[in-house]
Amino acid sequence: MKIGIVGCAGRMGRMLMNAVVEAEGCTLSGGTERPGSPQVGQDVGAVLGLGKLNAVISDTPSTLFAASDAVIDFSAPAATVAHAALAAEMGKILIVGTTGLSKEDEARLAEAAKSATIVYAPNFSVGVNLLMALTERAAAILGDDYDIEIVEMHHHHKVDSPSGTALGLGRSAAKGRAVALDSVWRKSRDGLVGARPKGEIGFATLRGGDVVGDHTVMFASEGERVELTHKASSRAVFAKGAVRAALWAKEQKPGLYSMRDVLGL
Ligand code: NAD
Repeated sequence: MKIGIVGCAGRMGRMLMNAVVEAEGCTLSGGTERPGSPQVGQDVGAVLGLGKLNAVISDTPSTLFAASDAVIDFSAPAATVAHAALAAEMGKILIVGTTGLSKEDEARLAEAAKSATIVYAPNFSVGVNLLMALTERAAAILGDDYDIEIVEMHHHHKVDSPSGTALGLGRSAAKGRAVALDSVWRKSRDGLVGARPKGEIGFATLRGGDVVGDHTVMFASEGERVELTHKASSRAVFAKGAVRAALWAKEQKPGLYSMRDVLGL
């Protein structure tokens, strides 16, 4: 399977190129970067420190899509929306890990998924997707007597907050309680003043250093507390999961899928 990487010189882009090179049955068809980036025109092997791989970094996504069966996109929301339209036009597989997409952006992904096979996940690690399934089940079993708070920590470069994964965990908890996250999401960024409103799901964001991604979902009642925690120590887990999603997508009809679909969770 020929896989291309957009935003290939980014933190995740480099990990993704490595994961494709290492995966059985996959070849790297190339990468793109923003027009004007210093990596444009270079061989991808030079960026990876692997020597020449005969795949060049371009600033033209249509060329990359034409040369690929699947494209993996961990870049930025505006770029991802444009890539989804291109995947639809060319009938290609698109794996989207970009976070911080607005509701309108997500609607465009859904529109593109009428003709393209798209897997969109805020987190491609197997462990976090298991955590989402466990969170949904715990919320359903524990019920309304347990307050739900979600705490996340990431490196200081991260731009969106709360993280896409924290929001995904919030959605899983809300689903377990048969409500929509938007109706119970406590959006105050300044912390709570006064008593905690019952039924709301709160998010706390920490930023610092090189933390790859820590998430804890707390269920707290009078007398006990359940905490479900995941800690990622290497970005390689997200890259391996994205390549696994691309291989899975090859056998699927056009549509919008999640990593939980890929893992059958
Ligand atoms: P980064 O800033 O290091 O990399 C992003 C890269 O995309 C940059 O190299 C940038 O130049 C490139 N880019 C931006 N616009 C582009 C365009 N139009 N064409 C081509 N390239 C373009 O960021 P990062 O840490 O690698 O994270 C990227 C995204 O992936 C973020 O949204 C982050 O939250 C998300 N992420 C998701 C997961 C997951 O499992 N879903 C895991 C980690 C990070």
